[in-house]
Amino acid sequence: MKKLENKVAVVTGGNSGIGLATAKVFAEEGAKVAITGRNKATIDEAVFEIGNASIGLVSDVSDINNIDRTYKTVKDTFGKIDVLVVNAGVFIAAPLADFTEEMFDQTSDINFKGVFFSIQKALPYLNDGSSIIITASTVAHKGFATTAAYSASKAAVRSLARTLSAELLDRNIRVNVLSPGPIDTPIFSRGGASEEEAHGTKTHFASGIPAKRLGTSEEMAAGFLYLASDDSKFMIGGELLLDGGAATL
Ligand code: NAD
Repeated sequence: MKKLENKVAVVTGGNSGIGLATAKVFAEEGAKVAITGRNKATIDEAVFEIGNASIGLVSDVSDINNIDRTYKTVKDTFGKIDVLVVNAGVFIAAPLADFTEEMFDQTSDINFKGVFFSIQKALPYLNDGSSIIITASTVAHKGFATTAAYSASKAAVRSLARTLSAELLDRNIRVNVLSPGPIDTPIFSRGGASEEEAHGTKTHFASGIPAKRLGTSEEMAAGFLYLASDDSKFMIGGELLLDGGAATL
């Protein structure tokens, strides 16, 4: 028996990195998957890779009306939502003195406001007994210079998981967090960083991880599968740290 047979999953930011690997594993485990992202071309490529009649929707998580329309389309297509992976995010790093209001607003609008409303707007469409999983980060546990706004946005969504779990208990909807350590994805080369700069950031992060390497998107996907499936049904408002020991050792 596949772990997500007859389930419908939505993965925000499912067209790249951790979200894409997760959507693929969910589909392999029997789920019908809807992915969202901002780029139509990469969404189309991802849908082809995921297979299993998945769908892809262009949807910006910082645009609230847009989020609502996206869930309506998923409901019209698949009839329900059982698993919501709130994963879309941006990583913008700069020393405190150089961090602009625009950088702050972008970080906050996508990583915090986007998560809050991605969950709120899903409520009418989520089945009772659903699993919601938020992608946070180990930077919400341990200080990493130049990541103040990003780290605070991830700390905020860790808190959301606990509060919303309490609020959604009567519907038996679980909200948990998966916090990756540094993972080898395109996130480091977004926002104008050159390949060389992205490589430098990744090497810097990897040197501080007890496992002495970056994690992989596939390792994260295995964690999301656990949190999405009934295997984790005793886990409510909790957090899975998949970080090669970065936050604790
Ligand atoms: P990625 O850049 O490959 O993926 C990010 C995804 O978010 C993309 O699909 C992108 O389209 C989507 N996205 C960004 N802004 C969006 C918006 N406004 N609306 C809709 N979609 C949007 O990076 P990733 O590493 O796979 O990141 C996935 C999540 O994991 C993010 O929340 C990130 O903060 C978190 N994370 C990543 C790492 C890491 O080291 N890679 C570590 C900890 C946490």
